[in-house]
Amino acid sequence: MSRELLVVQRARKSFQTGKTKPLEYRIHQLKNLRRFISERQGDITEAVRRDLGKSENGTQLFETLGLEGEINLALEKLSEWAAPRMVEKNLLTISDEVYVQPEPLGVVLIIGAWNYPWAITLQPLVGAIAAGNAAVIKPSEVSSHSAKVMEELLPLYLDKDLYPVVTGGVSETQELLKQRFDHIFYTGGSAVGKIVMAAASCHLTPVTLELGGKSPCYIDKNCDIRVACRRITWGKFVNCGQTCIAPDFILCEPSVQSQVVEEIQKCIKEFYTDNPETFEDYGRIINQRHFKRLMALMEGSTVAVGGASDESQCYIAPTVLKDVTGDSKVMKEEIFGPLLPIITVSGVDEAIRFINEREKPLVIYVFSQDNKLIKRVIAETSSGALLANDCLVHFTVSALPFGGVGNSGMGCYHGRYGFDQLSHLRSCLIKQLKMEGVNSMRYPPHSAKKLGWARFFMLKQVNVCRLRRMALLATMAGLAAFLVKYLAIFVLDSTL
Ligand code: NAD
Repeated sequence: MSRELLVVQRARKSFQTGKTKPLEYRIHQLKNLRRFISERQGDITEAVRRDLGKSENGTQLFETLGLEGEINLALEKLSEWAAPRMVEKNLLTISDEVYVQPEPLGVVLIIGAWNYPWAITLQPLVGAIAAGNAAVIKPSEVSSHSAKVMEELLPLYLDKDLYPVVTGGVSETQELLKQRFDHIFYTGGSAVGKIVMAAASCHLTPVTLELGGKSPCYIDKNCDIRVACRRITWGKFVNCGQTCIAPDFILCEPSVQSQVVEEIQKCIKEFYTDNPETFEDYGRIINQRHFKRLMALMEGSTVAVGGASDESQCYIAPTVLKDVTGDSKVMKEEIFGPLLPIITVSGVDEAIRFINEREKPLVIYVFSQDNKLIKRVIAETSSGALLANDCLVHFTVSALPFGGVGNSGMGCYHGRYGFDQLSHLRSCLIKQLKMEGVNSMRYPPHSAKKLGWARFFMLKQVNVCRLRRMALLATMAGLAAFLVKYLAIFVLDSTL
Protein backbone atom coordinates (compact mmCIF):
# COMPACT_ATOMS: atom_id res chain seq x y z
CA MET A 1 0.00 0.00 0.00
CA SER A 2 1.50 3.35 -1.01
CA ARG A 3 2.15 6.19 1.45
CA GLU A 4 -0.21 8.39 -0.59
CA LEU A 5 -3.05 5.85 -0.36
CA LEU A 6 -2.55 5.54 3.41
CA VAL A 7 -2.63 9.29 3.88
CA VAL A 8 -5.85 9.67 1.89
CA GLN A 9 -7.49 6.75 3.71
CA ARG A 10 -6.60 8.24 7.08
CA ALA A 11 -7.96 11.65 6.06
CA ARG A 12 -11.21 10.10 4.82
CA LYS A 13 -11.66 8.00 7.95
CA SER A 14 -11.15 11.06 10.10
CA PHE A 15 -13.53 13.12 7.96
CA GLN A 16 -16.18 10.43 8.27
CA THR A 17 -16.21 10.77 12.07
CA GLY A 18 -17.98 14.08 11.44
CA LYS A 19 -15.56 16.10 13.54
CA THR A 20 -15.17 18.85 10.92
CA LYS A 21 -18.92 19.53 10.86
CA PRO A 22 -19.21 21.80 13.93
CA LEU A 23 -18.13 25.36 13.15
CA GLU A 24 -16.23 25.54 16.47
CA TYR A 25 -13.89 22.82 15.19
CA ARG A 26 -13.19 24.67 11.94
CA ILE A 27 -12.66 27.93 13.83
CA HIS A 28 -10.18 26.21 16.13
CA GLN A 29 -8.19 24.85 13.15
CA LEU A 30 -8.24 28.23 11.37
CA LYS A 31 -6.92 29.92 14.53
CA ASN A 32 -4.17 27.30 14.71
CA LEU A 33 -3.27 28.01 11.09
CA ARG A 34 -3.06 31.73 11.91
CA ARG A 35 -0.89 30.97 14.94
CA PHE A 36 1.37 28.80 12.76
CA ILE A 37 1.93 31.73 10.38
CA SER A 38 2.70 34.25 13.11
CA GLU A 39 4.85 31.95 15.29
CA ARG A 40 6.77 30.45 12.35
CA GLN A 41 7.24 33.63 10.34
CA GLY A 42 11.04 33.26 10.75
CA ASP A 43 11.08 29.68 9.37
CA ILE A 44 8.80 30.69 6.49
CA THR A 45 10.94 33.74 5.60
CA GLU A 46 14.15 31.71 5.67
CA ALA A 47 12.65 28.98 3.45
CA VAL A 48 11.41 31.51 0.89
CA ARG A 49 14.79 33.26 0.96
CA ARG A 50 16.48 29.97 0.11
CA ASP A 51 13.93 29.07 -2.56
CA LEU A 52 13.53 32.40 -4.33
CA GLY A 53 16.01 34.83 -2.76
CA LYS A 54 13.09 36.87 -1.43
CA SER A 55 13.57 39.44 1.37
CA GLU A 56 11.76 39.35 4.73
CA ASN A 57 9.55 42.29 3.67
CA GLY A 58 8.76 40.60 0.37
CA THR A 59 7.69 37.40 2.13
CA GLN A 60 5.48 39.27 4.59
CA LEU A 61 3.90 41.39 1.89
CA PHE A 62 3.32 38.71 -0.73
CA GLU A 63 3.01 35.48 1.23
CA THR A 64 1.78 35.81 4.79
CA LEU A 65 -0.15 39.11 5.13
CA GLY A 66 -2.75 38.11 2.55
CA LEU A 67 -3.06 34.67 4.11
CA GLU A 68 -3.69 36.12 7.55
CA GLY A 69 -6.27 38.46 6.00
CA GLU A 70 -8.08 35.50 4.41
CA ILE A 71 -8.06 33.57 7.69
CA ASN A 72 -9.42 36.58 9.61
CA LEU A 73 -12.17 37.06 7.05
CA ALA A 74 -13.14 33.37 7.26
CA LEU A 75 -13.21 33.55 11.07
CA GLU A 76 -15.42 36.64 10.96
CA LYS A 77 -17.84 35.38 8.30
CA LEU A 78 -17.90 31.61 8.79
CA SER A 79 -21.25 31.45 10.57
CA GLU A 80 -22.81 33.58 7.81
CA TRP A 81 -21.24 31.53 4.98
CA ALA A 82 -22.20 28.19 6.52
CA ALA A 83 -25.78 29.19 7.42
CA PRO A 84 -28.79 28.01 5.39
CA ARG A 85 -29.41 30.43 2.50
CA MET A 86 -33.08 31.21 2.09
CA VAL A 87 -34.31 31.38 -1.51
CA GLU A 88 -37.30 32.91 -3.25
CA LYS A 89 -40.50 30.88 -2.97
CA ASN A 90 -43.25 30.19 -5.52
CA LEU A 91 -46.93 29.39 -4.99
CA LEU A 92 -46.12 25.73 -4.65
CA THR A 93 -43.60 26.28 -1.83
CA ILE A 94 -45.17 29.29 -0.14
CA SER A 95 -45.71 27.47 3.17
CA ASP A 96 -42.57 25.30 2.98
CA GLU A 97 -38.96 25.69 4.08
CA VAL A 98 -36.84 26.29 0.97
CA TYR A 99 -33.14 26.91 1.31
CA VAL A 100 -29.60 26.10 0.21
CA GLN A 101 -27.42 24.39 2.79
CA PRO A 102 -23.65 24.47 2.20
CA GLU A 103 -22.10 21.16 3.24
CA PRO A 104 -18.52 19.85 3.20
CA LEU A 105 -17.44 17.91 0.10
CA GLY A 106 -15.13 15.43 1.84
CA VAL A 107 -11.41 15.05 1.17
CA VAL A 108 -9.83 17.75 -0.98
CA LEU A 109 -6.43 17.51 -2.68
CA ILE A 110 -4.53 20.81 -2.86
CA ILE A 111 -1.60 20.86 -5.30
CA GLY A 112 0.49 24.02 -4.95
CA ALA A 113 2.98 25.81 -7.22
CA TRP A 114 6.40 27.16 -6.31
CA ASN A 115 6.26 30.88 -7.16
CA TYR A 116 4.48 31.98 -3.94
CA PRO A 117 4.86 28.64 -2.17
CA TRP A 118 3.00 29.61 1.01
CA ALA A 119 0.23 31.89 -0.23
CA ILE A 120 -0.70 29.65 -3.14
CA THR A 121 -0.72 26.41 -1.16
CA LEU A 122 -2.30 27.59 2.08
CA GLN A 123 -4.91 29.99 0.73
CA PRO A 124 -7.05 27.17 -0.75
CA LEU A 125 -6.56 25.38 2.58
CA VAL A 126 -8.34 28.26 4.36
CA GLY A 127 -11.39 27.65 2.15
CA ALA A 128 -11.12 23.87 2.63
CA ILE A 129 -11.00 24.09 6.43
CA ALA A 130 -13.75 26.75 6.58
CA ALA A 131 -16.01 24.58 4.42
CA GLY A 132 -15.46 21.61 6.78
CA ASN A 133 -13.35 19.39 4.52
CA ALA A 134 -10.29 17.26 5.11
CA ALA A 135 -7.41 18.33 2.85
CA VAL A 136 -4.28 16.60 1.60
CA ILE A 137 -1.68 19.29 0.95
CA LYS A 138 0.91 18.74 -1.79
CA PRO A 139 3.41 21.65 -1.91
CA SER A 140 5.54 22.06 -5.04
CA GLU A 141 8.82 20.14 -4.97
CA VAL A 142 10.41 23.01 -6.93
CA SER A 143 10.32 25.29 -3.86
CA SER A 144 11.89 22.49 -1.82
CA HIS A 145 12.82 24.46 1.32
CA SER A 146 9.29 25.74 1.78
CA ALA A 147 7.90 22.25 1.16
CA LYS A 148 10.17 20.80 3.84
CA VAL A 149 9.24 23.43 6.44
CA MET A 150 5.55 22.93 5.64
CA GLU A 151 5.86 19.17 6.04
CA GLU A 152 7.74 19.45 9.34
CA LEU A 153 5.91 22.29 11.05
CA LEU A 154 2.31 22.42 9.87
CA PRO A 155 1.38 19.12 11.61
CA LEU A 156 2.45 20.71 14.91
CA TYR A 157 -0.48 23.11 14.55
CA LEU A 158 -3.20 21.37 12.51
CA ASP A 159 -4.91 17.99 12.89
CA LYS A 160 -2.39 15.56 11.37
CA ASP A 161 -4.94 13.11 9.99
CA LEU A 162 -7.29 15.66 8.49
CA TYR A 163 -4.70 17.99 6.97
CA PRO A 164 -1.60 15.93 6.07
CA VAL A 165 1.26 17.38 4.02
CA VAL A 166 2.66 15.08 1.31
CA THR A 167 5.98 16.10 -0.20
CA GLY A 168 7.67 14.71 -3.29
CA GLY A 169 7.87 15.26 -7.02
CA VAL A 170 6.01 14.22 -10.12
CA SER A 171 5.72 10.52 -9.19
CA GLU A 172 4.29 11.31 -5.73
CA THR A 173 1.79 13.75 -7.26
CA GLN A 174 0.80 11.14 -9.82
CA GLU A 175 0.34 8.54 -7.08
CA LEU A 176 -1.89 11.00 -5.22
CA LEU A 177 -3.86 11.66 -8.40
CA LYS A 178 -4.71 7.95 -8.62
CA GLN A 179 -6.61 8.20 -5.32
CA ARG A 180 -10.22 9.16 -5.02
CA PHE A 181 -10.82 12.73 -3.83
CA ASP A 182 -13.97 14.81 -3.56
CA HIS A 183 -12.32 17.85 -5.12
CA ILE A 184 -8.90 18.66 -6.56
CA PHE A 185 -7.61 22.21 -6.29
CA TYR A 186 -4.59 22.59 -8.57
CA THR A 187 -2.37 25.65 -9.12
CA GLY A 188 0.30 25.51 -11.82
CA GLY A 189 0.86 25.39 -15.57
CA SER A 190 -1.79 24.42 -18.16
CA ALA A 191 0.06 21.30 -19.37
CA VAL A 192 -0.05 19.67 -15.92
CA GLY A 193 -3.57 21.07 -15.48
CA LYS A 194 -4.66 18.73 -18.29
CA ILE A 195 -2.99 15.75 -16.54
CA VAL A 196 -4.79 16.66 -13.31
CA MET A 197 -8.15 16.95 -15.05
CA ALA A 198 -7.70 13.64 -16.86
CA ALA A 199 -6.84 11.88 -13.59
CA ALA A 200 -9.82 13.52 -11.84
CA SER A 201 -12.19 12.28 -14.53
CA CYS A 202 -11.52 8.65 -13.52
CA HIS A 203 -13.40 9.27 -10.26
CA LEU A 204 -15.68 12.05 -11.59
CA THR A 205 -13.90 14.38 -9.17
CA PRO A 206 -14.57 18.10 -9.70
CA VAL A 207 -11.52 20.31 -10.20
CA THR A 208 -10.45 23.88 -9.69
CA LEU A 209 -7.59 24.75 -12.02
CA GLU A 210 -5.70 27.94 -11.20
CA LEU A 211 -3.49 28.21 -14.28
CA GLY A 212 -1.48 30.95 -15.95
CA GLY A 213 -1.01 32.31 -19.45
CA LYS A 214 0.01 35.53 -21.14
CA SER A 215 -1.71 38.49 -19.48
CA PRO A 216 -1.67 41.52 -21.82
CA CYS A 217 -1.29 45.12 -20.73
CA TYR A 218 -2.65 47.83 -23.03
CA ILE A 219 -1.39 51.41 -22.52
CA ASP A 220 -3.63 54.04 -24.11
CA LYS A 221 -1.49 56.88 -25.49
CA ASN A 222 -3.69 59.47 -23.77
CA CYS A 223 -3.07 58.23 -20.23
CA ASP A 224 -0.50 59.43 -17.70
CA ILE A 225 2.32 57.24 -19.02
CA ARG A 226 4.64 58.01 -16.12
CA VAL A 227 2.15 56.69 -13.54
CA ALA A 228 1.19 53.74 -15.77
CA CYS A 229 4.84 52.70 -16.12
CA ARG A 230 5.49 52.95 -12.36
CA ARG A 231 2.62 50.56 -11.68
CA ILE A 232 3.55 48.20 -14.52
CA THR A 233 7.22 48.09 -13.41
CA TRP A 234 6.13 47.14 -9.91
CA GLY A 235 3.63 44.49 -11.09
CA LYS A 236 6.01 42.95 -13.61
CA PHE A 237 9.29 42.69 -11.73
CA VAL A 238 8.10 41.82 -8.25
CA ASN A 239 9.25 38.25 -7.46
CA CYS A 240 11.41 38.51 -10.62
CA GLY A 241 8.33 38.35 -12.83
CA GLN A 242 7.42 34.90 -11.47
CA THR A 243 3.83 35.91 -10.74
CA CYS A 244 0.87 34.29 -12.50
CA ILE A 245 -0.90 37.65 -12.83
CA ALA A 246 2.17 39.68 -13.84
CA PRO A 247 1.63 41.71 -17.03
CA ASP A 248 3.20 39.39 -19.61
CA PHE A 249 3.59 41.94 -22.42
CA ILE A 250 2.72 45.56 -23.25
CA LEU A 251 0.60 46.69 -26.20
CA CYS A 252 0.92 50.40 -27.13
CA GLU A 253 1.04 52.71 -30.13
CA PRO A 254 4.45 53.21 -31.83
CA SER A 255 4.37 56.93 -30.95
CA VAL A 256 4.64 56.19 -27.21
CA GLN A 257 6.97 53.16 -27.25
CA SER A 258 10.15 55.11 -26.53
CA GLN A 259 8.49 57.07 -23.72
CA VAL A 260 7.28 53.79 -22.18
CA VAL A 261 10.83 52.35 -22.37
CA GLU A 262 12.30 55.50 -20.81
CA GLU A 263 9.80 55.62 -17.95
CA ILE A 264 10.16 51.92 -17.12
CA GLN A 265 13.95 52.32 -17.13
CA LYS A 266 13.66 55.17 -14.60
CA CYS A 267 11.36 53.10 -12.38
CA ILE A 268 13.66 50.05 -12.45
CA LYS A 269 16.48 52.30 -11.26
CA GLU A 270 14.29 53.87 -8.58
CA PHE A 271 12.90 50.53 -7.30
CA TYR A 272 15.97 48.29 -7.65
CA THR A 273 18.94 50.73 -7.84
CA ASP A 274 21.54 50.77 -10.64
CA ASN A 275 22.51 47.24 -9.72
CA PRO A 276 19.46 45.04 -9.04
CA GLU A 277 21.78 42.03 -8.65
CA THR A 278 22.92 43.23 -5.24
CA PHE A 279 19.61 44.75 -4.16
CA GLU A 280 17.89 42.69 -1.46
CA ASP A 281 14.35 43.15 -2.78
CA TYR A 282 15.17 41.74 -6.19
CA GLY A 283 15.02 37.94 -6.07
CA ARG A 284 16.26 35.12 -8.27
CA ILE A 285 14.89 32.77 -10.91
CA ILE A 286 13.74 29.59 -9.16
CA ASN A 287 16.22 27.20 -10.85
CA GLN A 288 18.62 26.66 -13.75
CA ARG A 289 15.95 25.07 -15.93
CA HIS A 290 13.79 28.19 -15.78
CA PHE A 291 16.90 30.42 -16.12
CA LYS A 292 17.84 28.68 -19.40
CA ARG A 293 14.24 28.76 -20.63
CA LEU A 294 14.05 32.54 -20.03
CA MET A 295 17.40 33.27 -21.68
CA ALA A 296 16.27 31.31 -24.74
CA LEU A 297 12.99 33.27 -24.89
CA MET A 298 14.97 36.52 -25.38
CA GLU A 299 16.57 35.25 -28.61
CA GLY A 300 15.69 37.33 -31.66
CA SER A 301 14.32 40.31 -29.67
CA THR A 302 15.90 43.75 -29.20
CA VAL A 303 16.88 44.50 -25.61
CA ALA A 304 15.91 48.08 -24.72
CA VAL A 305 16.65 47.93 -20.97
CA GLY A 306 18.58 45.40 -18.84
CA GLY A 307 19.48 42.05 -20.39
CA ALA A 308 22.31 41.22 -17.93
CA SER A 309 22.38 37.77 -16.37
CA ASP A 310 24.46 35.42 -14.20
CA GLU A 311 23.70 31.72 -14.58
CA SER A 312 25.59 30.70 -11.45
CA GLN A 313 23.17 32.80 -9.37
CA CYS A 314 20.06 32.33 -11.54
CA TYR A 315 20.03 36.13 -11.90
CA ILE A 316 18.35 37.94 -14.80
CA ALA A 317 18.11 41.74 -14.64
CA PRO A 318 14.75 43.47 -15.13
CA THR A 319 14.61 43.54 -18.93
CA VAL A 320 12.49 45.38 -21.48
CA LEU A 321 12.33 44.11 -25.08
CA LYS A 322 11.14 46.48 -27.80
CA ASP A 323 9.65 46.13 -31.31
CA VAL A 324 8.56 42.60 -30.50
CA THR A 325 5.99 40.95 -32.81
CA GLY A 326 3.33 38.33 -32.23
CA ASP A 327 5.63 35.78 -33.92
CA SER A 328 8.67 36.43 -31.69
CA LYS A 329 9.92 33.58 -29.53
CA VAL A 330 9.08 35.46 -26.34
CA MET A 331 5.42 35.53 -27.42
CA LYS A 332 5.14 31.75 -27.83
CA GLU A 333 4.65 30.90 -24.14
CA GLU A 334 3.96 32.48 -20.76
CA ILE A 335 7.16 34.32 -19.78
CA PHE A 336 6.99 33.90 -16.00
CA GLY A 337 10.22 35.85 -15.51
CA PRO A 338 11.63 39.42 -15.64
CA LEU A 339 11.30 39.99 -19.40
CA LEU A 340 8.82 42.62 -20.58
CA PRO A 341 8.21 42.71 -24.35
CA ILE A 342 6.55 45.71 -26.01
CA ILE A 343 4.42 45.12 -29.10
CA THR A 344 3.19 48.13 -31.04
CA VAL A 345 -0.39 48.29 -32.28
CA SER A 346 -2.27 51.01 -34.17
CA GLY A 347 -4.76 51.58 -31.30
CA VAL A 348 -7.33 49.93 -29.12
CA ASP A 349 -9.04 48.15 -32.07
CA GLU A 350 -5.87 46.28 -32.94
CA ALA A 351 -5.10 45.64 -29.27
CA ILE A 352 -8.51 43.99 -28.80
CA ARG A 353 -8.01 41.94 -31.98
CA PHE A 354 -4.53 40.86 -30.82
CA ILE A 355 -5.91 39.74 -27.44
CA ASN A 356 -8.90 37.91 -28.93
CA GLU A 357 -6.74 35.96 -31.40
CA ARG A 358 -5.02 34.26 -28.44
CA GLU A 359 -6.02 32.11 -25.44
CA LYS A 360 -8.16 33.78 -22.78
CA PRO A 361 -5.73 35.27 -20.24
CA LEU A 362 -5.84 35.24 -16.44
CA VAL A 363 -6.04 39.03 -16.42
CA ILE A 364 -6.12 41.92 -18.89
CA TYR A 365 -4.61 45.24 -17.81
CA VAL A 366 -5.70 48.54 -19.35
CA PHE A 367 -4.18 51.92 -18.59
CA SER A 368 -6.36 54.81 -19.75
CA GLN A 369 -8.09 57.99 -18.56
CA ASP A 370 -11.01 57.14 -20.82
CA ASN A 371 -13.64 55.17 -18.97
CA LYS A 372 -15.45 54.40 -22.22
CA LEU A 373 -12.32 52.79 -23.65
CA ILE A 374 -11.92 50.66 -20.50
CA LYS A 375 -15.57 49.56 -20.68
CA ARG A 376 -15.09 48.74 -24.36
CA VAL A 377 -12.16 46.43 -23.59
CA ILE A 378 -14.30 44.76 -20.90
CA ALA A 379 -17.19 44.30 -23.34
CA GLU A 380 -15.14 43.03 -26.28
CA THR A 381 -12.66 40.64 -24.60
CA SER A 382 -12.72 37.82 -22.04
CA SER A 383 -10.30 36.99 -19.22
CA GLY A 384 -10.26 35.76 -15.61
CA ALA A 385 -10.19 39.40 -14.47
CA LEU A 386 -9.75 42.89 -15.85
CA LEU A 387 -7.83 45.49 -13.92
CA ALA A 388 -7.67 49.10 -15.10
CA ASN A 389 -4.93 51.53 -14.12
CA ASP A 390 -3.06 49.26 -11.71
CA CYS A 391 -1.41 45.85 -11.51
CA LEU A 392 -1.90 42.76 -9.30
CA VAL A 393 -4.03 44.44 -6.63
CA HIS A 394 -7.29 42.73 -7.62
CA PHE A 395 -5.74 39.63 -6.00
CA THR A 396 -6.07 41.32 -2.61
CA VAL A 397 -9.80 42.08 -2.89
CA SER A 398 -11.50 39.13 -1.18
CA ALA A 399 -14.89 40.26 -2.46
CA LEU A 400 -13.76 39.46 -6.03
CA PRO A 401 -13.57 35.84 -7.25
CA PHE A 402 -10.01 34.96 -8.27
CA GLY A 403 -9.59 32.50 -11.11
CA GLY A 404 -9.16 32.01 -14.83
CA VAL A 405 -11.35 31.24 -17.80
CA GLY A 406 -10.64 28.89 -20.72
CA ASN A 407 -6.92 28.19 -20.93
CA SER A 408 -6.19 30.25 -17.79
CA GLY A 409 -8.27 27.97 -15.58
CA MET A 410 -11.64 27.08 -14.15
CA GLY A 411 -13.31 27.72 -10.82
CA CYS A 412 -12.33 30.44 -8.40
CA TYR A 413 -11.55 31.23 -4.79
CA HIS A 414 -10.76 33.94 -2.21
CA GLY A 415 -13.12 34.86 0.62
CA ARG A 416 -16.60 33.43 0.28
CA TYR A 417 -15.80 32.15 -3.22
CA GLY A 418 -13.21 29.79 -1.72
CA PHE A 419 -15.75 28.57 0.82
CA ASP A 420 -18.39 28.00 -1.87
CA GLN A 421 -15.92 26.39 -4.26
CA LEU A 422 -15.10 23.72 -1.70
CA SER A 423 -18.67 23.21 -0.47
CA HIS A 424 -21.59 21.37 -1.94
CA LEU A 425 -24.51 23.80 -2.17
CA ARG A 426 -27.31 21.42 -1.29
CA SER A 427 -30.91 22.20 -2.23
CA CYS A 428 -33.32 21.61 0.68
CA LEU A 429 -37.12 21.67 0.44
CA ILE A 430 -39.13 20.72 3.52
CA LYS A 431 -42.86 20.29 2.91
CA GLN A 432 -45.73 19.41 5.26
CA LEU A 433 -47.81 16.25 4.92
CA LYS A 434 -50.92 18.48 4.85
CA MET A 435 -53.04 19.78 1.95
CA GLU A 436 -53.07 16.51 0.03
CA GLY A 437 -56.43 17.68 -1.40
CA VAL A 438 -54.53 19.95 -3.76
CA ASN A 439 -53.09 16.85 -5.45
CA SER A 440 -56.66 15.55 -6.07
CA MET A 441 -57.84 18.73 -7.82
CA ARG A 442 -59.31 18.21 -11.29
CA TYR A 443 -58.72 20.44 -14.26
CA PRO A 444 -61.07 21.58 -15.83
CA PRO A 445 -63.17 21.14 -12.63
CA HIS A 446 -65.66 18.59 -14.10
CA SER A 447 -63.22 16.61 -16.17
CA ALA A 448 -61.93 13.21 -15.17
CA LYS A 449 -58.39 14.48 -15.45
CA LYS A 450 -56.66 15.00 -12.14
CA LEU A 451 -54.42 18.03 -12.01
CA GLY A 452 -52.12 16.09 -9.68
CA TRP A 453 -48.45 16.71 -10.26
CA ALA A 454 -49.17 18.82 -13.34
CA ARG A 455 -49.67 21.64 -10.80
CA PHE A 456 -45.96 21.44 -10.27
CA PHE A 457 -45.23 22.69 -13.76
CA MET A 458 -48.06 25.25 -13.73
CA LEU A 459 -47.26 26.73 -10.34
CA LYS A 460 -43.54 26.84 -11.03
CA GLN A 461 -44.33 29.53 -13.58
CA VAL A 462 -46.02 31.76 -10.98
CA ASN A 463 -43.75 34.40 -9.55
CA VAL A 464 -44.75 34.96 -5.93
CA CYS A 465 -43.03 38.35 -5.71
CA ARG A 466 -44.91 39.54 -8.76
CA LEU A 467 -48.15 38.22 -7.30
CA ARG A 468 -47.42 40.05 -4.05
CA ARG A 469 -46.70 43.27 -5.96
CA MET A 470 -49.93 42.86 -7.93
CA ALA A 471 -51.93 42.22 -4.73
CA LEU A 472 -50.40 45.34 -3.18
CA LEU A 473 -51.27 47.39 -6.27
CA ALA A 474 -54.83 46.06 -6.24
CA THR A 475 -55.21 46.95 -2.53
CA MET A 476 -53.86 50.45 -3.15
CA ALA A 477 -56.18 50.90 -6.14
CA GLY A 478 -59.16 49.77 -3.99
CA LEU A 479 -58.16 52.19 -1.25
CA ALA A 480 -57.80 55.03 -3.76
CA ALA A 481 -61.27 54.25 -5.24
CA PHE A 482 -62.74 54.20 -1.73
CA LEU A 483 -61.18 57.57 -0.86
CA VAL A 484 -62.29 59.17 -4.14
CA LYS A 485 -65.85 57.90 -3.64
CA TYR A 486 -66.14 59.28 -0.10
CA LEU A 487 -64.43 62.52 -1.02
CA ALA A 488 -66.98 63.00 -3.81
CA ILE A 489 -69.89 62.30 -1.41
CA PHE A 490 -68.40 64.73 1.09
CA VAL A 491 -67.99 67.47 -1.57
CA LEU A 492 -71.53 66.90 -2.91
CA ASP A 493 -72.96 66.98 0.62
CA SER A 494 -71.25 70.24 1.49
CA THR A 495 -72.29 71.94 -1.82
CA LEU A 496 -75.95 70.92 -1.59
P1 NAD B 1 5.22 23.34 -10.56
O1 NAD B 1 6.31 22.84 -11.45
O2 NAD B 1 5.51 23.59 -9.13
O3 NAD B 1 4.01 22.33 -10.71
C1 NAD B 1 2.82 22.51 -9.95
C2 NAD B 1 2.47 21.21 -9.27
O4 NAD B 1 2.23 20.22 -10.26
C3 NAD B 1 3.57 20.66 -8.37
O5 NAD B 1 3.02 20.38 -7.10
C4 NAD B 1 4.07 19.41 -9.07
O6 NAD B 1 4.39 18.38 -8.16
C5 NAD B 1 2.91 19.01 -9.93
N1 NAD B 1 3.36 18.39 -11.18
C6 NAD B 1 4.34 18.80 -12.02
N2 NAD B 1 4.44 17.98 -13.08
C7 NAD B 1 3.51 17.02 -12.92
C8 NAD B 1 3.10 15.88 -13.67
N3 NAD B 1 3.70 15.54 -14.81
N4 NAD B 1 2.11 15.10 -13.17
C9 NAD B 1 1.49 15.42 -12.02
N5 NAD B 1 1.85 16.48 -11.25
C10 NAD B 1 2.82 17.27 -11.69
O7 NAD B 1 4.61 24.67 -11.06
P2 NAD B 1 4.59 25.29 -12.51
O8 NAD B 1 3.63 24.54 -13.35
O9 NAD B 1 5.96 25.59 -12.99
O10 NAD B 1 3.93 26.69 -12.04
C11 NAD B 1 3.99 27.80 -12.79
C12 NAD B 1 2.65 28.00 -13.48
O11 NAD B 1 1.64 28.13 -12.49
C13 NAD B 1 2.61 29.25 -14.30
O12 NAD B 1 1.96 28.96 -15.50
C14 NAD B 1 1.79 30.20 -13.45
O13 NAD B 1 1.12 31.17 -14.21
C15 NAD B 1 0.85 29.23 -12.79
N6 NAD B 1 0.35 29.80 -11.55
C16 NAD B 1 -0.96 30.12 -11.49
C17 NAD B 1 -1.46 30.69 -10.35
C18 NAD B 1 -2.91 31.08 -10.24
O14 NAD B 1 -3.33 31.42 -9.15
N7 NAD B 1 -3.68 31.04 -11.31
C19 NAD B 1 -0.63 30.93 -9.26
C20 NAD B 1 0.70 30.57 -9.37
C21 NAD B 1 1.19 29.99 -10.52
